[in-house]
Amino acid sequence: MRYLILSDVHSNLEALEKCLKLAAGRYDRALCLGDLAGYGPDPNAVIERVRLLAHVIVRGNHDKACCGLLDPEDFNTLARLAAEWTRSQLTPEHMEFLRSLPEGPIAVDGFELVHGSPADEDEYIFDALEAVRAFSATASPLVFFGHTHRQGGFLLTADHRFKPVMTPPIYDDEPASVPLDPDARYLINPGSIGQPRDGDWRAGFAIFDSDERRIDFYRTPYPLELTQQKMRKAGLPEPLVQRLETGR
Ligand code: ZN
Repeated sequence: MRYLILSDVHSNLEALEKCLKLAAGRYDRALCLGDLAGYGPDPNAVIERVRLLAHVIVRGNHDKACCGLLDPEDFNTLARLAAEWTRSQLTPEHMEFLRSLPEGPIAVDGFELVHGSPADEDEYIFDALEAVRAFSATASPLVFFGHTHRQGGFLLTADHRFKPVMTPPIYDDEPASVPLDPDARYLINPGSIGQPRDGDWRAGFAIFDSDERRIDFYRTPYPLELTQQKMRKAGLPEPLVQRLETGR
């Protein structure tokens, strides 16, 4: 089975559509690690698209803030303004849909999906220490996580060493393949579709082939200016508009 793993779409319809176009025909089942909403200009269109597509969706912290399950006061000012704007735009149906999303981790076919960390759905896995905590919170050999908006992840070898998951240089629209060692455990971040923060503005996602035991990471350019235009028209904060082009 080939699984399309999507995360942190953040209401960016242009990025989502470009990724889905590139992924078409390369996967059997789509899964989503949360943060459909927040930051970008198209929350309703993105929710509609992912809802119809994804087999399982776990909730993200922005999904919770945009539907009233989390107080946006806990966010920084820019994220809070975007969450409040999103709340004013969501249809009642989509609001209810976000409220109904399950908390991760969720087990799927022998692996797990979570927004932040298996230790806590809102926790970040940025470094080895946080990866240790995440590995100790689960027995699963493979966990897909998002939240940091950084493509890659960590592996724990059979002799208990932690390593970052190395990804080869990634060309536009070409898979960068990482074969999975059967004796190691993995925390894999497919990258963010709608607001990457690893210094690369291109939309990111991954495809997991469970028969071949391989992850293919992708980066793809999308019509960024269109997203930025829509954000300015919506009156979303300018720093959020600009960060899309720096990937920070
Ligand atoms: Zn996010």
